[in-house]
Amino acid sequence: MEAVPFIGIDRHRLGIDGVGVTTLAAFHGCPLRCKYCLNHRCLESPDGLPRYTPQQLYDFVGVDNLYFIATGGGVCFGGGEPLLRVDFIAEFKRLCGKSWNLTAETALQVPQQAVEQAAEVVGDFIVDIKESNPDIYRAYTGGDAAVAWRNLERLLALVGHDHVTVRVPLIPDINTEADTDRTAQRLSDMGFTRIDRFSYRKIENQPSQP
Ligand code: SF4
Repeated sequence: MEAVPFIGIDRHRLGIDGVGVTTLAAFHGCPLRCKYCLNHRCLESPDGLPRYTPQQLYDFVGVDNLYFIATGGGVCFGGGEPLLRVDFIAEFKRLCGKSWNLTAETALQVPQQAVEQAAEVVGDFIVDIKESNPDIYRAYTGGDAAVAWRNLERLLALVGHDHVTVRVPLIPDINTEADTDRTAQRLSDMGFTRIDRFSYRKIENQPSQP
């Protein structure tokens, strides 16, 4: 498999993106264009970014093997949109086996087949669903909310609510408390119990993600 670009690899994360100690491996590339995206590097040219094959990434992050095993942690794949690279993640899982837990931070803006493939190899998902109102979703991301919500339903059926945390942001000048209430209620009605509601902060008139 060819080496693919990453915008960053961050070690020794605790309780941020998965069980135990994790290393975040953030892929380049995302189909959305969120107005307040903090990861602009993943939307720009990949020239100059470090590239890894699954084997090279496995060798690189393996320095923390003892931390992963002792805490039940492992690798969190983010981005960008990690499910665009589901073949890479599947190959990585083949290398690391069951001893490392894999997590994916995803907006689920991908073909359903990618979700189904990811469900076979990723232990826990953190889904940035953003909004349930399709007009707000499109205005904020440029994408189609129906794709993400259909995939969320499929993911729930495949892995169960214990393995999915869904993030519901209150976004300044984009949605309201009432909008986030509606999104959280829809998730609750679907059977989700891990619903993470939070607010983007405004810093010097620029909202940013916490
Ligand atoms: S889904 Fe995430 S990485 Fe992609 S544009 Fe939105 S905030 Fe940025």
